[in-house]
Amino acid sequence: MKPVLPSDDRLPERFRSKVAESETGCWLWTGATGRDGYSRYRYGGKGSKTGVAHRFAYENLIGPIPHGMQLDHLCRVRNCVNPTHLEPVTPRENTLRGDTLAAANAAKTQCPSGHPYDDQNTFVDAKRRIRMCRACASERMRIRRREAKRKEYSMRPILVTTEHRGVFAGLIEDDQDINARSMPLKSAKMAIYWGTTKGVMELAKDGPNGKSKISLAADIPALHGITAVFDVTPEAWKKWEAA
Ligand SMILES: [Zn+2]
Ligand SMILES: [Zn+2]
Repeated sequence: MKPVLPSDDRLPERFRSKVAESETGCWLWTGATGRDGYSRYRYGGKGSKTGVAHRFAYENLIGPIPHGMQLDHLCRVRNCVNPTHLEPVTPRENTLRGDTLAAANAAKTQCPSGHPYDDQNTFVDAKRRIRMCRACASERMRIRRREAKRKEYSMRPILVTTEHRGVFAGLIEDDQDINARSMPLKSAKMAIYWGTTKGVMELAKDGPNGKSKISLAADIPALHGITAVFDVTPEAWKKWEAA
């Protein structure tokens, strides 16, 4: 299934500009909220009705809400408009769930690591339907990010040329076969304009200079048609990263 992102262009720019994604996946509404804590959004167009923003997101990204159904916030964050955190339920079910959650919260007030299970620190994993601790989740995310960074440090910077006369610099795994015609390239940047007269060797040895035009970095799952591979010096790689 395609991930649902707050940048989805099925949502108008006016809507997207009011969403701040939290580390735990909630799309926090930075626009107006009602006294009940729910997001308010002027739908625009004919009649221009105002409704809750999370309904708007659900209808545009997931589908129509069955008549008479309410959207239950699985994450318990009222101003969250992430449609994957919402589930259409009957008003009765919605009330029951509120009660169940309140009861569960009362029974268990801390996560296994001792963080409080209060409104601020609790969210619901929409897929697994379980209560989660925000503090623990962001700690896990921090560790994951650090590991990804560490992995990147141990990767090897190379410069490749392709049969379409492309010149890319990026990172490969240590055990990557460099004779392969096709390979994944991480944090890859393409030299759009070299800005040097000495050719690709200079881009590998010294990196791009002020006159070079370099694309934004992207992870390329498989770069095809590779014709040559050069090692990039650590100094040159720093310049590629900064370019
Ligand atoms: Zn949420
Ligand atoms: Zn915790």
